[in-house]
Amino acid sequence: MLTKAFAAQSATTPLGPFAIERRAPLAKDVEIDILFCGVCHSDLHFARNEWGMTTYPVVPGHEIVGRVTRVGSDVKRFRPGDLAAVGCLVDSCRTCSSCKQNLEQFCLNGPVFTYSGPDKHSGGMTYGGYSERIVCDEAFTLKVPANLDPARAAPLLCAGITTYSPLRKWGAGEGKTVGIVGLGGLGHMGVKFASAFGARTVLFTTSESKIADGKRLGAHEVVISKDAEAMAKRAGTFDMILDTVSADHDVNAYLALLKLDGTLVMVGAPPSPQPVNVFSLLMPRRNLSGSLIGGIRETQEMLDFCGKRNIVCDIEIIRMQQINEAYERMLRSDVKYRFVIDMASLKG
Ligand code: NAP
Ligand code: ZN
Ligand code: ZN
Repeated sequence: MLTKAFAAQSATTPLGPFAIERRAPLAKDVEIDILFCGVCHSDLHFARNEWGMTTYPVVPGHEIVGRVTRVGSDVKRFRPGDLAAVGCLVDSCRTCSSCKQNLEQFCLNGPVFTYSGPDKHSGGMTYGGYSERIVCDEAFTLKVPANLDPARAAPLLCAGITTYSPLRKWGAGEGKTVGIVGLGGLGHMGVKFASAFGARTVLFTTSESKIADGKRLGAHEVVISKDAEAMAKRAGTFDMILDTVSADHDVNAYLALLKLDGTLVMVGAPPSPQPVNVFSLLMPRRNLSGSLIGGIRETQEMLDFCGKRNIVCDIEIIRMQQINEAYERMLRSDVKYRFVIDMASLKG
């Protein structure tokens, strides 16, 4: 089916209208009419080939919520009319040791990402959520709790799971002091989850204008990371710090804040290497780690948790045609706290 989309044709051209083909649903497929798609900073890194791995044309978008329109004959969990979601993954081998542990994002045979991944059906590349509809295997399609606003739930599919997963893995909760670095799409969900899990939550931001929002979103304290004195006062006091920053910054400044055996987890993905002073790791024995989105089972667990606790994202709805301006605003950290595209603007 010919499907309207928005694509980047090269690293330097703005995104614009582009027609793609979607397959008719196969036996295990769910066809979704996309209502909303969140705008992740990874979309921008990808559209501009900042990670050096983009194949053009690229249709970004991996925070997808919509309505099921058709299902294949073997589909059990979805019916036309259901609210459904697709995140960053649309397939994996399902047989390797990572897939067997429900960690499809680390599939040893290569996870198939929602965009710019090899599409075994078309023989080309996968196309993401900046489009009218998507067709996805039921096994990679998520249920959206009915009480959540679909537009505000969309960014849970990447910003949500990318912060939920490491906070769970490293035990953010009662009795722990957890730092979240950067108040953007990921960071604002990190603050909401860490405080919902019961951790003492401290936001580190470069933006003085975000102090009040940081507290409203659940931070017990907000530290301006450019304030050397405020940073020094907190040396050695954190169990875990989740770093969501998208650009070059001083990682050592956060390592210094960890306790013995504390962990700095990188989820932000600046295109250039970030220098690490090894002495910050040696004394006192600290960990530096990373985390990539989350598996499908954990993504559903996160959505269900959000349904129970009524957790959604703080968003600004835009039209598809405003995407290039939205990217520029995202680069200026001028987003509160996620742009979400109303896909009706593309269909009209
Ligand atoms: P975003 O909304 O643009 O937020 C990034 C935040 O980082 C900004 O709001 C800003 O917060 C801070 N920041 C930006 N430039 C900075 C600088 N030069 N120095 C210090 N702080 C700076 O981006 P996002 O969508 O949350 O994504 C963040 C990063 O995570 C991106 O690199 C993205 O590709 C990556 N990502 C990774 C995964 C994964 O699985 N690991 C998944 C999704 C996204 P303040 O104004 O508060 O300082
Ligand atoms: Zn993302
Ligand atoms: Zn696998």
